[in-house]
Amino acid sequence: MVTAVSHAFSDEHELLRQTVRQFVQAKVEPQAMAHDESATFNAGLLAELGKLQLIGVTIPDADGGAGMDATASVIVHEELAYADPGFTLGYLAHALLFVNNFYWAATAAQRKRYLPRTLTGELIGAMGMTEPAVGTDVLGLQTTARRDGDAYVLDGRKTFITNGCEAGVFLVYAKLADRITTFVVERGCPGFATGPKIPKMGMRASTMSELIFDGCRVPAENLLGSEGGGITNMMRNLEIERLGLSAMSLGMARRCLDTMVQYAMDRRSFGKPLAEHGQIQRYIAESFAKVEAMRALIYSVAATTGPTQRNRLGTDAAKLFSATAAKEVADAAMQVLGGYGYCTEFRIEQFLRDTKLIEIGGGTLEAHQKNITRDLSARR
Ligand SMILES: Cc1cc2nc3c(=O)[nH]c(=O)nc-3n(C[C@H](O)[C@H](O)[C@H](O)COP(=O)(O)OP(=O)(O)OC[C@H]3O[C@@H](n4cnc5c(N)ncnc54)[C@H](O)[C@@H]3O)c2cc1C
Repeated sequence: MVTAVSHAFSDEHELLRQTVRQFVQAKVEPQAMAHDESATFNAGLLAELGKLQLIGVTIPDADGGAGMDATASVIVHEELAYADPGFTLGYLAHALLFVNNFYWAATAAQRKRYLPRTLTGELIGAMGMTEPAVGTDVLGLQTTARRDGDAYVLDGRKTFITNGCEAGVFLVYAKLADRITTFVVERGCPGFATGPKIPKMGMRASTMSELIFDGCRVPAENLLGSEGGGITNMMRNLEIERLGLSAMSLGMARRCLDTMVQYAMDRRSFGKPLAEHGQIQRYIAESFAKVEAMRALIYSVAATTGPTQRNRLGTDAAKLFSATAAKEVADAAMQVLGGYGYCTEFRIEQFLRDTKLIEIGGGTLEAHQKNITRDLSARR
């Protein structure tokens, strides 16, 4: 990996990167194109990550995780997304949106019940925040919960839920007496169903569906955190989610940069390699600068983000910058590869489709712009 930015990684982080990179070359790269084409999630591959302790990266080792930090999580997402962004999105939905979110809010009894099987990938998790009528305006969510004896009864609908088709357990936000509250809902819970797979432009190696709650009875012990405590869980987890998505942008951009440099050296036009044409050099050099800027920003924000160390401003900025930078790098790669870029062989068309998601999922560009402006204004 050619880089001009020096970031001090610990020996543990370096070893983690090597381990993931070897796994990616051996197991992730060979299956990626087929899963993009079939629009299916490779659940077996997730279980292999579980065996390597790569699902519970941010979970303390005393509870069966790897006991590492946000930087480690960024490394894993960057390396996986270099080969298979769609699979990485399914991994993120499981490891961060469910496992990490669940862990920091759960009681010991809840951890005992759900952690072992989610850390191995045997039980797949998903998180339901977005609704058909409410996305960015998340605090206006309309799914309701009411207490009824030894259960809570949920009514409403979620949409665009990654892993909705495969998941066996769901972390769901609903309003209990108008206060956002978090519940753990198991597939098979009476009154709960998932809709069919929703077709999409990119990130096709992960699936998404609606979640439907129709008088769904959730046992009272599946309340996660306190009644009305959902916003705390949501906001804490959004930060690591945004870092994970930023890291995916970095991995995708690095892949596109590597592909365009190699192609520009191999392909000749007008008697010389493409790399000797000034206009092509501009695509390469500007893409390299964007990748380096992404790397510097993402890893410095990751070093100051954790479950007890909040960095909303930094994580919003990292995702705002990386999402668009990665899409621009993918577009530049397509231009350098010409017709070969537009066809599937070099996978640049896939990466261009996949990079676009990060400008929407986990917070749109506009949401980050609003958050950053609000936080900067509040500091005046
Ligand atoms: C592939 C994929 C996977 C996803 N996975 C999950 C998941 O696992 N779980 C989950 O809960 N959600 C998931 N989502 C949903 C995702 O987080 C939402 O799509 C996103 O938050 C935006 O919400 P929306 O689509 O409803 O757009 P809207 O909120 O309706 O926004 C539409 C447009 O209007 C803009 N806009 C909205 N409000 C304002 C405003 N006040 N000012 C300026 N502009 C505004 C937005 O920025 C956007 O450009 C996923 C989405 C996709 C596409």
